[in-house]
Amino acid sequence: MNNPRILFWHRKDLRIFDNQALIKAFSLSNAITSTYILDKNYSHDFNANSRAWFLGNSLQELGNNWGELGSRLVIKEGDPVLIIPQLAKTIDAKFVFWNKSIEPYEINRDLQIKKILKEKNIQVIESWDHLLVEPLNIFSGNNKPYTVYGPFYKKLKSKMNLLGSYDQDKVIFQFQDIDNKLKENKTINSSDSVLKKFLKNIKFSGSNICPCRPGENAAEKLLKNFINEKKIYSYNSARDLPSYNGTSFLSASLRYGTISIRKVWNATLNLNSNCESHENYLSIETWQKELIWREFYQHCLFHFPELEKGPYRKKWDQFPWQNNIEWFQHWSNGETGVPIVDAAMRQLNTTGWMHNRCRMIVASFLVKDLICSWQLGEKKFMETLVDGDLAANNGGWQWSASSGMDPKPLRIFNPYTQAKKFDPICDYIKSWVPELSKVSNSEILNGEISNLEKINYSNPIVNHNVQQRFFKSLYAEI
Ligand SMILES: Cc1cc2nc3c(=O)[nH]c(=O)nc-3n(C[C@H](O)[C@H](O)[C@H](O)COP(=O)(O)OP(=O)(O)OC[C@H]3O[C@@H](n4cnc5c(N)ncnc54)[C@H](O)[C@@H]3O)c2cc1C
Repeated sequence: MNNPRILFWHRKDLRIFDNQALIKAFSLSNAITSTYILDKNYSHDFNANSRAWFLGNSLQELGNNWGELGSRLVIKEGDPVLIIPQLAKTIDAKFVFWNKSIEPYEINRDLQIKKILKEKNIQVIESWDHLLVEPLNIFSGNNKPYTVYGPFYKKLKSKMNLLGSYDQDKVIFQFQDIDNKLKENKTINSSDSVLKKFLKNIKFSGSNICPCRPGENAAEKLLKNFINEKKIYSYNSARDLPSYNGTSFLSASLRYGTISIRKVWNATLNLNSNCESHENYLSIETWQKELIWREFYQHCLFHFPELEKGPYRKKWDQFPWQNNIEWFQHWSNGETGVPIVDAAMRQLNTTGWMHNRCRMIVASFLVKDLICSWQLGEKKFMETLVDGDLAANNGGWQWSASSGMDPKPLRIFNPYTQAKKFDPICDYIKSWVPELSKVSNSEILNGEISNLEKINYSNPIVNHNVQQRFFKSLYAEI
């Protein structure tokens, strides 16, 4: 078969550079047509306004890139189980290529599609792309999936060291488009209007201030800023200060695959010669550790799909959550009267992103002070975060709730101690809670704000010490 037509399906890999399945497809033929489907059954991709914005704009850039390389991106909406076979047939594809997923819904969906395509004699070729190491390629000593981060980190790091510096993709793509008469086909040419309608319906007001930026070009820039401007060398301490731009802001790029995880990992190698202090070395390692947290949660969800539905530690099913909806609303709107919590929730609601330290603080507060189920918080995050990702979000919430794989039995953050440590001059708090701009830092940090009515800021809805004792008593019962 000479240069067979291929359908390439983009999913969490919205890029052309270093795309494992695309490289494989191109080695077989350059007659490639690509597609992206706004999957009506997989709302995770766009059920938050911020993610719809990130996705829509990334797709627009991706479509232009395909056009410049001689082919096209066909954007459809609906059910991929119907659309992929139909599209493959329309363009007379002999092969369909895609990169594998780890989420339960996607795995089941892909199985169905593979079955249908097999019946039509169309071959599916899958690759791993979204992870540093394939989940079936890393097991503990007794041949079981890892359930604790520490040993997983060591094993994965040793594998990465063995691989050494990743040899980046030097493939120069040039594609061959479909025949002219097919270009008029309804299935193909409705694509522009699908994207136009999608972009028109985006209701995200934080596009100018969201620190994550859509598209392949912007992801490259974010990575360059983080490495070339030497932010990575001070990451170890700067990453905990929410008022300081000390992190990479690559989370949404990695979630949608507008940049390859191998490229990001590769950028952390060979930096040691520029290190001037122990802090510099430590910082590079700490950032690698974060990338491996991402990897860990993805592997966990792949091996334990039940995590999506409930706690890893089953005793948490018995926990008597109070789920006071009024309190939940206050938390959600950034109106709890606890300054660091309110600042963080307002940052989330306005920009679609929240600093990691603050994600841990607000999660602990919701679960352990307000005694609301972590699943309510998980849902709110998925409805708002630009980087909302099932594995990372579920992992973060289960870690904060102590229901996950973290071996520490109970972790409770005191929001005031956290603010004293990580926002000592209240820069972050005051920028997101302007009602407090004239209040002294010590009043804010000690939770003793006087003249509340005058400054229009509410009293704390709960007392941390009281709630902590209550939470512990409930926990003792399970
Ligand atoms: C309750 C809670 C919910 C979270 N939900 C998400 C989510 O939906 N999507 C998401 O990508 N991250 C999530 N995180 C992890 C983390 O907060 C973000 O990845 C990070 O803040 C993104 O900012 P950055 O890109 O500047 O990260 P950097 O500090 O520059 O880190 C580099 C990359 O490492 C990964 N990473 C860093 N920390 C973590 C972590 N703790 N867990 C998993 N991956 C990590 C991300 O891909 C990130 O882009 C959550 C954390 C918590 C505590």
